[in-house]
Amino acid sequence: MQLLIMGAPGAGKGTQATKLAEKYKIPHISTGDIFRNLDERTELGQQVRRFMKSGKLIPDELTNQIVEERLQKSDCADGFILDGYPRTTAQAINLDVVLKILRQPLTQVLNIHVEPEELIERAVGRRICKNCGATYHVKFNPTKVADVCDACGGSLYQRADDNADTMKNRLSVYENSTRPLIDYYKQAGIYSEIDGRQPIDKVTADLFNVLDGLK
Ligand code: ADP
Ligand code: AMP
Repeated sequence: MQLLIMGAPGAGKGTQATKLAEKYKIPHISTGDIFRNLDERTELGQQVRRFMKSGKLIPDELTNQIVEERLQKSDCADGFILDGYPRTTAQAINLDVVLKILRQPLTQVLNIHVEPEELIERAVGRRICKNCGATYHVKFNPTKVADVCDACGGSLYQRADDNADTMKNRLSVYENSTRPLIDYYKQAGIYSEIDGRQPIDKVTADLFNVLDGLK
C-alpha cells in the first residue's frame, strides 16, 4: 500500500502516519524528519536549517532527489507512507514519474483537514522526544510525567520552527504551494478527506475506515 498523508502544518500528519505505519507495517517517510536529521556540521545541513527556521520550503530539486533515493530502499518494496511530501505541484509531478518507474502508484491520498485557527496552537504546544521522535502536545496529548517521553523515557524538545511567527509563514506557504495539490489528487480519483479536529484516536479510526473500505 502506497499512502500519502496530507494536511497543513500541525494538522496531525506525523501523529497519524506513525499509527498507519505500525498497522500496515510500512515505513513512515517524513521529509521534515529527514531534513531535521541532516548533520548540522555540513554546509547542506546548515542551508536546510535556514530554510526551515524561516518556514520556507527546501528547493524542489533537492527534496525530490532525497525522496527518490529513499523510495528505492528495500523496505519500501511493499509500500510506504509519505508525510510532508509532495508540498508543491512540481514535487507531485516528480513523484508520479518516480512511482511509475518503480511500478508503485499511490494507493490513496489522505488529507487531514483542520481549520487554520487551530493550527498555531497545535504547533506551538508540540513537543518531540529527542531520543525516539515521538510527538506530544502540552495540552492535547501530554506525557504522563512533564517533559519525559512515555515511550522511551527520553527528554522532549520544541522545534525551532514551532513558534507563532514562523507558523504564520508556514501556513501561507501551505495555502499558496500545497493546498492546490488537493485538486491534483481529487482529479486523480485517489483523494479522501478526514476531519482532523476530532480527538487523535477518532482521527485514526476514520483513517483506518477509509483504508479498510478500499479492500
Ligand atoms: P504535522 O505532522 O501535521 O505537522 P503533528 O502530528 O506533529 O502534525 O501534530 C501537531 C501537534 O498537534 C502535536 O503536538 C500533536 O500532538 C497534536 N495533535 C495531533 N493530532 C491532534 C488532534 N487530533 N487533536 C489535538 N492535537 C493533535
Ligand atoms: P514538517 O516536519 O513536515 O512540518 O516540515 C518542516 C519543514 O521542513 C518545512 O517547513 C520545510 O522547510 C521543510 N520541508 C519538509 N518537507 C518538505 C518538502 N516536501 N518540500 C520542501 N520543504 C520541505
